[in-house]
Amino acid sequence: MNISIIGTGYVGLVTGACLAELGMNVLCVDKDEDKINNLVKGIIPIYEPQLEDIITRNYNDSRRLKFTTNIEEAVEYSKAIFIAVPTPTDETGIADLQFVFKVASEIGMYINGYKVIVDKSTVPIGTGQKVKEEINRILQKRNKCIDFDVVSNPEFLREGNAVKDFVNPSRIVIGAESEKAIDIMKKIYSIQDIFNIPIIITNIETAEMIKYASNTFLATKVSFINEIANMCELCNADVSVVSEGMGLDSRIGSKFLNAGPGFGGSCFPKDTKAFIGIGKTLGYIPNIVRTVIDVNDVQKKNMFKKIKKVVGKLENKTITILGISFKPETDDIRESPAISIIKELLDNKAVVKAFDPKAMDNAKKYYPELNIEYCDDIDFACIDTDCIVLITEWEQFKNLNFEKLKYIVRTPNFLDLRNIYDPEYIKNSGFLYEGVGRK
Ligand code: NAD
Repeated sequence: MNISIIGTGYVGLVTGACLAELGMNVLCVDKDEDKINNLVKGIIPIYEPQLEDIITRNYNDSRRLKFTTNIEEAVEYSKAIFIAVPTPTDETGIADLQFVFKVASEIGMYINGYKVIVDKSTVPIGTGQKVKEEINRILQKRNKCIDFDVVSNPEFLREGNAVKDFVNPSRIVIGAESEKAIDIMKKIYSIQDIFNIPIIITNIETAEMIKYASNTFLATKVSFINEIANMCELCNADVSVVSEGMGLDSRIGSKFLNAGPGFGGSCFPKDTKAFIGIGKTLGYIPNIVRTVIDVNDVQKKNMFKKIKKVVGKLENKTITILGISFKPETDDIRESPAISIIKELLDNKAVVKAFDPKAMDNAKKYYPELNIEYCDDIDFACIDTDCIVLITEWEQFKNLNFEKLKYIVRTPNFLDLRNIYDPEYIKNSGFLYEGVGRK
């Protein structure tokens, strides 16, 4: 089957590459010419484990994967057109759908026969119907009557694990209105069917809601455990043990119960805000999610306060940041807690040294105004520092050599914002230890 993916970012590129790997002919489109030119030259724009190999295999060898900036070619080429463009929140907190509707208009302009338009972008409930209206509006202008279906197929991949999640997802959700569209979607996902991946077939609105309900629920777990962590700090309890004790209850589950610097990334912050916007348009106030956002904002600020408490006056003090990406195994820094912490440190005239295995190029590119001293390795980042702050739990940071670090830092302070280390071990190594929700 010929498939086009419109929007070749984290979701689009992974989806396109993996569908090609599963045997489909895939044409990935992006309006960003540099990105497409680079992909054609073999330069992969994002870091995601295994992705480069899959792209190389399917672009160079099998030739099932192609890249273009020409949306007309892509629309004509394919039976199914996946939309994977950004849906950021605007200043008022509403999901900004301009990219989705632009693509819908373009599809309307070039559609030349029956197609399934598959929405993979995270969009407010009701967007699928609006996409259909927009395509029909353009078709009317063209004086054409062409059959098509719009399907909602939300994406649940986790950055850093995206390839594995695409090939072996927890579930596949298909919101559709016709058997024809459902059959095409089932064909696309026929390999996953062999592995008994649950497929939920429902209407478009329910599929759109499943995505928001999932992300807001996970964000709620994070803010919930961060609240517990804040209370633990006030009553000599250890949140790591509390999480373990809670998580063993299968009704609760242990995932997303790790206290830390607050959630970031390209999804939770924008999807929780957009959910409030969706509530507004429906005349409903989602109070739980509103509080989740407030708790998260406070949590990020609390991390800065922790550093200040340990270091004192920040002017001219050197702070080492380990980890800039919002989570390990990705170079994505969108809404990363590290960025807000770094900004506050710089505002308070601290000297910031940072090391991240993959995200430093993005930090340089998107925050050129931040006067960060980027370092080539952990040791270099820790020389003469007044405080090491571990923000992202990369594997490289899980076995720091504190015996050695003790001799290269100026002041032995260690802030473990992911609660990776045993506090006693760090203290015995001669460092002051501060975690989140435990002493
Ligand atoms: P991204 O910013 O990484 O990529 C989007 C791409 O779309 C960009 O390359 C951009 O140039 C391109 N684009 C924008 N308008 C275009 C147009 N008119 N024609 C062609 N290309 C266009 O975004 P992403 O992280 O891949 O997210 C895409 C969608 O998927 C969002 O709605 C997001 O919420 C959702 N989502 C993301 C993730 C994730 O982990 N990143 C997970 C699940 C769902």
